Formats: sequence, structure tokens, C-alpha cells
Amino acid sequence: MKIRVGHLYPDYLNIYADRGNIAVLAQRAAWRGHELEISLLGMDDPIPPGDHDLLYVGGGQDREQLLVASNLAAKADQLVESVERGAALLAVCGGYQLLGRGYRGFHGQDMPGVGLFPLETVAGERRMIGDVLLECELESGRKRTLAGFENHAGRTRLDAGAVPLGRVVAGFGNDGRSGFEGCRVGRAVGTYLHGPLLPRNPWLADWLLGQALAHRLGGAPELEPLPDDLEAAAHEVASARARARGGRF
Ligand code: GLN
Repeated sequence: MKIRVGHLYPDYLNIYADRGNIAVLAQRAAWRGHELEISLLGMDDPIPPGDHDLLYVGGGQDREQLLVASNLAAKADQLVESVERGAALLAVCGGYQLLGRGYRGFHGQDMPGVGLFPLETVAGERRMIGDVLLECELESGRKRTLAGFENHAGRTRLDAGAVPLGRVVAGFGNDGRSGFEGCRVGRAVGTYLHGPLLPRNPWLADWLLGQALAHRLGGAPELEPLPDDLEAAAHEVASARARARGGRF
């Protein structure tokens, strides 16, 4: 089965090895006999709802975010409809911020957002940098952890009732105060975790592939388990670093 992936602004939003996330998705799909068909979507490309099973928006500095923000916001209806129609989406850091209602950068630059995620972001004085550990429950009753790295000045505030991606076990998360990290709307997930995220959190890669296949086929086939020993070891190292940094919540 071909899984159609739309990679938004790969030339601008690709600051923290974001391509590593795409590589993990492609390889884990291939090991199960599926193929990722990746379209690179730039400024001039529309995002017709229904054309992609998975959309990906990477991270960027304020400067790059400023370059793409208006172009991305002009495609808000297409993106929101894509997710409403069941496409999966992963947005990381700068991309995550721009999929909210807007981001005010470190120098006060106001950038419009897509409004897919019910949140707003304003940059603060101190950057929030370091290893992070989250506890997530994307499927009810199934708790799993995500380990990653964060580096952002933006403080993200979720609207009341918004669903976070996870609870912060160690690290700062969305704003260093709420104890929440990331956001989830339908099959769309936004997060500050990068470095990249998926190599040490293969369960999330499989969750995204499953959601993308469900969009493609109407129901997701079981993805057969893979021997994830190396990935588990990488997860353990990152989790231990985050725990050593100390739980803030
Ligand atoms: N420029 C944004 C911030 O500092 C996002 C940075 C990033 O993508 N790491 O909050």
C-alpha cells in the first residue's frame, strides 16, 4: 500500500533533523510492505484535502517561521479540512506553534497561525532547553512514554478543554508551568519534541502510520511488531537523561 505523505516547507522548517522523522516512517512502513510516497510541498503548492494520508510540518527558528507563516495561514482551510477528513498530521516545534492560532516571536513579530490546534504561543525571555520525558495516553487505557529534546522560547497555552499530547514527567513542556506538552486534535499531533522525535519513540511512528493507513483504507490493518531493541535502548538513554534533569511537575 502507498501511504501519501505531504512534507510542508522542507526547505524552511527542517532545523532539528526533521528529515529523520520521515526516514523512520519510511523504513517502518517498508518493513511492513508499505511504501511512503513523499510530496514536498512548498510555497506554491496547494494542499488539496484528501490527497495526503499524513502531513508533516517540521521545526524552525523565528526567522524561518516568519518566512512561511502567511503562506501557511492562507492554506488554513485546506489543512483543517484535511484533518477533519481523517488525515494524520505530525507538527514539531516551530511547525506546531504555527498550527495554533498564532505565534509572537522573540522580537515581537506577530505571525498568523492555521488555527488547527486550540492554542496560542508567545515567546518569553528564557529559552526552554533540554531532555524531556512525557507520559501519553493516545488510546485510552494504554499509557506510554515519549522521550525527546526541547529548545524553544515560545510559551504555548492550550485553550480550556484542549487535549495535550502528554503530561510532563521531566522537562518544561508547552509553557514550563502547566505540566502539559503538545496538543492533539483527531489524528493530528503537535509537539515540541525533536532531535528528531520518532527514532527513539517508535510506538508513535507506528501510531501515525496506523492513522495514515486508516485514512487511506477506512480501517487500519494491524502493523506487525518489529524487533525494536536499538530503539528501546535509545529511548532508555533519553529517558534517563530527562529524569536526571529532574521532574518539574
Ligand atoms: N522559534 C521557535 C521558538 O523558539 C521555535 C523553535 C524551534 O522550532 N525549536 O519557540
